[in-house]
Amino acid sequence: MLELKHIKKYYHVGDTLTKAQDDVSVAFRKQEFVAILGPSGSGKTTMLNIIGGLDRYDSGDLLIKGRSTKDFKDADWDAYRNNSVGFIFQSYNLITHLSIMENVEMGMTLSGVPAAEKKKRAEDALIRVGLKDHMHKQPSQLSGGQMQRVAIARAIANDPEILLADEPTGALDSETSEEIMQLIQDLSRERLVIMVTHNPDLAKKYADRVINFADGKIMHDSHPHVEAAKAEAFELKRTKMSYLTALKLSWTNIRTKKGRTFLTVFASSIGIIGIAVVLALSNGFQKQIDKTQSEAMASMPVTISQTGTDTNSLMTGTDTKTFSKADHVTAEKSAADKAQHTNKLSRAYLDYLDKMPTGDARNIAVSYGTGMNLIRQVNGKYKAVSFSTANPDSGSADYGSMMAASTGVGGAVYPVRRTSSGKTFLQTYYKVLAGRYPQKSTDIVLVVDKKNTVNINALKNLGITVKEGQKFNYNDLIGTTVKLVTNDNYYMKLPTGTYLPNQDLSSAAAAPSTKTLTVAGIVRVKSKNSDGLLASGIAYSSALTKQVLNDNKDSAIVAAQKASQTNVMTGQPMDQATRSAMLTTLGGTSTPISIQIYPTTFKLKDKVLSYLDKWNKDHKQADKVIYTDLAGTVSDMTGGLMDAITYVLVAFAAISLVTSMIMIAILTYTSVIERTKEIGVLKALGARKKDITRVFDAETFILGIGAGLFGIVVAWALTFPINVVLENVTGLAGVAVLNPVHAVILVIISTVLTLLGGHVPARMAAKKDAAIALRSE
Ligand code: ADP
Ligand code: MG
Repeated sequence: MLELKHIKKYYHVGDTLTKAQDDVSVAFRKQEFVAILGPSGSGKTTMLNIIGGLDRYDSGDLLIKGRSTKDFKDADWDAYRNNSVGFIFQSYNLITHLSIMENVEMGMTLSGVPAAEKKKRAEDALIRVGLKDHMHKQPSQLSGGQMQRVAIARAIANDPEILLADEPTGALDSETSEEIMQLIQDLSRERLVIMVTHNPDLAKKYADRVINFADGKIMHDSHPHVEAAKAEAFELKRTKMSYLTALKLSWTNIRTKKGRTFLTVFASSIGIIGIAVVLALSNGFQKQIDKTQSEAMASMPVTISQTGTDTNSLMTGTDTKTFSKADHVTAEKSAADKAQHTNKLSRAYLDYLDKMPTGDARNIAVSYGTGMNLIRQVNGKYKAVSFSTANPDSGSADYGSMMAASTGVGGAVYPVRRTSSGKTFLQTYYKVLAGRYPQKSTDIVLVVDKKNTVNINALKNLGITVKEGQKFNYNDLIGTTVKLVTNDNYYMKLPTGTYLPNQDLSSAAAAPSTKTLTVAGIVRVKSKNSDGLLASGIAYSSALTKQVLNDNKDSAIVAAQKASQTNVMTGQPMDQATRSAMLTTLGGTSTPISIQIYPTTFKLKDKVLSYLDKWNKDHKQADKVIYTDLAGTVSDMTGGLMDAITYVLVAFAAISLVTSMIMIAILTYTSVIERTKEIGVLKALGARKKDITRVFDAETFILGIGAGLFGIVVAWALTFPINVVLENVTGLAGVAVLNPVHAVILVIISTVLTLLGGHVPARMAAKKDAAIALRSE
């Protein structure tokens, strides 16, 4: 059945050499009760461990059913221990955090016996050892003799052919010892039992065969056996611990250390709590910022002026590090001046803007800066009026008071193009409070704000007598008319050659080319997000501007001003800038002075910008048009700041995650030390190295996922008081919002990190020598 051939096992410790097995050769029958007697330290346990596959021999051979074990792999030994061998130890070695049933079942659990059969066989074994009434107790509730009976039940539950007992009665009183001996003797009827004892009386009384051992050698064998040389059929069933078993084993172990486990989980979760709260806050703040921004900035247009600043050229400054060696001075423009770029707002560019997808921009307001000669009859006399919202009393007197009407034309211009839905701009964004939408270019509208107020100056400039706070019926304002006079009718040439507005405007009002503009309706923005699209006051269509430009571009005063370097109205000399401004005002130039593009939404702004960028990509430097995206500059700044703060805080919190990881490693290491015996027992029952690693990985997995979940729950709970405090301080409600995706990711991170931290000690545990593990106390 079993044969040892010249087995040697030497231990070298320092300079001393211990011959634990010194050329042992012995054979055992298929069924007998062998007692091994000998003094302490003679090598009895070593022999038992070698026979049971818990320890390896240095040389010689162990034959099982005639088959050599020289070529046995770890897996073969594991299976051999599990299938063929049952171990009984002096100190019982029960796994204390498992129930009695679970202890007895463990060997079968490792070899994957189905639950029902496992239970049946465990019960049978327990009945066999006389523990029928104690089956459902915990090991700690049993006496020594009872615990040894459980150990015996565990050893025979898998019905092994070999039962190895190492001083099974060493810790028991003589009466209990007799009972256990009888039990073992009974079991030896069906199998080979090899029992180590230092009690010769018990050996003689119960064993069939007594072997005397000393100094690693067999001194005497009462009933030697010579093994027949034929090999029998011998097959081993491989063992494998399922992840579920590993988890269960760790779970029950963790449960026995509730206090410590809770503290560990709590401490490990602090990093997770920190990161979760930081993310919740930054997440919420970013959302708040985005919301406020898209509301506030929806009304912030992308602006194109006649000159733009090329920030790229500002950045790429020339070499500033070296000093010049020249002995002269060079005249240069300042960097800021060099960055000045003149935007050519050509017809082609305006056409390009016109082709922008209609859904992207709500309004493309092109300001021409051309004046309108507006007059209105007040108290029987024609008076210059304006659409301006500037205070008429403090009107800029740059060109003399007679220019006031023309300079401050003001008013908002709305586009004539239709939106993608075929509605006009006003129909899309404004609703009519009274009157109707404008139908022709001579229809103008009065724009009021959300509260139905209108800039008082807009009314004053229309020649309406008005006091602050005065209320108007819609009908008082609708139908108000203003006359638009061409330059040639408005200005008259004096004998001196200069031009002045006509003193008698009634003939201008009656002139055939004079248009009558009528306030057709009072409109208000539909949604608050569109507020500011058109300034409160008078709004007119861009078509009207074009008509005015067309009417005046060849007028006498324009022609005169184009020909003259002096001011044609005052006769005074003036600089180029003033002259070109004057020409613009008179309608002599058709180049816009600025363009304002209102993206439909904050998000669509990017599409608008890339549309503008595309023009610049396709044109050479001089024809590029540089725009200003104020909203973008602001949001870039706040967004970047928020990100930076988040990174720093997360980094800090991450440090505590690393701390948790180290802590888990220490805890696992402690657990490995504490559970050394358990590791030995599991190995004796046939657990593989992998299974042992799995047990401890399972433990860290439970701790990691526990810490992660606990951290998330605490962080989530913390968001409520944090939000209360934040609302009191900042007035913002519901800032801290834990993103479920973040929560899941954090739990995963916590689990992975603790698994990593615990894996090294887990591997250490797996490498533990089973024989040494079982010797440890
Ligand atoms: P017994 O069981 O007969 O008391 P053991 O088989 O336990 O004896 O030990 C036999 C000898 O081998 C002893 O001298 C013991 O000190 C030695 N020994 C056992 N295990 C080791 C080990 N891991 N390292 C060094 N010496 C060991
Ligand atoms: Mg011993």
